[in-house]
Amino acid sequence: MIPLEEDVLEFIAWVIGGDEAVRVIRVLGEKEMSDEEIARKANLKEDVARRALYNLYQGLLVRMRRERDEETGRYKFFWSLNLDQVEAIVRDWKRKILKKLEAMLEHEQNNQFFFCGTPGCRRYTFDEAYEHMFRCPRCGRPLEFYDNSKEIKALKAKIKQIKAELEA
Ligand SMILES: [Zn+2]
Repeated sequence: MIPLEEDVLEFIAWVIGGDEAVRVIRVLGEKEMSDEEIARKANLKEDVARRALYNLYQGLLVRMRRERDEETGRYKFFWSLNLDQVEAIVRDWKRKILKKLEAMLEHEQNNQFFFCGTPGCRRYTFDEAYEHMFRCPRCGRPLEFYDNSKEIKALKAKIKQIKAELEA
């Protein structure tokens, strides 16, 4: 089984179908399960679980197979994670995050930052600090040059990690 990036997957499930979808995703595996089994394991009412499953199915995160019960003539539904799709979604997501991080790194590298040192206040670029005459508009303390080498280092490490994961 491919290593799943659980938090990415759960986040996307949440976007698609809210908390119920996250609970469904958590109990679903590669193996097929019926609605009833999923509802029981996720501790959801069956109609709620079914709605979440349907949303996830629409969002392509889960696969569905139906089987006719010979005795009752009714259809039973079986669900499983759509692993190919899940992997594609996670990769796509990582590419987006990578782009964002690269833009952030560029912003860090191309600017000088000024900071008042007060927790909760934000950093300002030179232009912004200049506009405020080097006084923090939030707390009034002087804005001083801020060494952002820590932020740059952290961003570079994260970028390197995601690139390695994408190449794997
Ligand atoms: Zn401040």
